Amino acid sequence: MPDHRQYVMEYREYGGGPPTRLLCFDLRRVGDDALLATYGGGRHLLNRARIVSLADAQTGEVISDLDSHIVWPTTVPAVDIQKIRQRDKWEWDKKYCLRVIENHFRNKLFALFDYSCVKCSKPGILRTDFKSMEHVPFWRGLERDHHVPISLGGRLTPGNIGVLCTSCNSRKNEKSPQSFYTASELGRVQRYLDKEEPMLRFKFDWEAWRQDRAQYLTGLGIGQGLVNEVLTNEDHRYYAPPSSSAQIEFTIAVDLKEVIKEIEKQNKGRAATGDGEVET
Ligand SMILES: [Zn+2]
Repeated sequence: MPDHRQYVMEYREYGGGPPTRLLCFDLRRVGDDALLATYGGGRHLLNRARIVSLADAQTGEVISDLDSHIVWPTTVPAVDIQKIRQRDKWEWDKKYCLRVIENHFRNKLFALFDYSCVKCSKPGILRTDFKSMEHVPFWRGLERDHHVPISLGGRLTPGNIGVLCTSCNSRKNEKSPQSFYTASELGRVQRYLDKEEPMLRFKFDWEAWRQDRAQYLTGLGIGQGLVNEVLTNEDHRYYAPPSSSAQIEFTIAVDLKEVIKEIEKQNKGRAATGDGEVET
């Protein structure tokens, strides 16, 4: 039965820091270790293992038996899945602040998976031939996958991001890892996933960025040639205008697949001299 008691939850976010306090109600189990909590007018997908404490919002009574307060089971409605998917992408982009950094970390993720689909081993294709993407290593045909799907409570967070080719990713869709992979594949994927969290850990360092932008980017492992383009070539896809927070906001990453689609569309209808400039 739905429970309209209100709870104060302390929740440990990925990436550390002090626990978040959340006023919520209607806790629903949506996977082995995922909960959907309603708060305000929204919903929040939570990893159960990250709940630090739960208390009754009115009496302050600490609840130790979490299970008796959870409604079980339910599925995440399709419209929520879509919203969560968009939010996940947005949060990933936001974390890396600059497109050039976002692409760098995406490539690091692909590198971890040997630049190939973890299911069928099909390799990605390296493209560097767009004029407005000079020096950008960009891998086509590979996609990030919610390993535990959104419908079962998985989010696009390190430890839950698989790499699949386009066709395997569309076949996997909302299937659970157990029903998509064989047991031996599952073991292999898990070994990759275990390495993600330290590899994708990142916080934009404003201080270092302001002090020496070129040094900051090369220090992250981004190639010198690309760094030069990003800082000096206004026509470059990843051009970062001289620092100010408002301008940085402007360069926040967008979905690269969309960018490529746009560029290809423009290139098709344009002579090879076209500069590939695209509104975002
Ligand atoms: Zn594949």
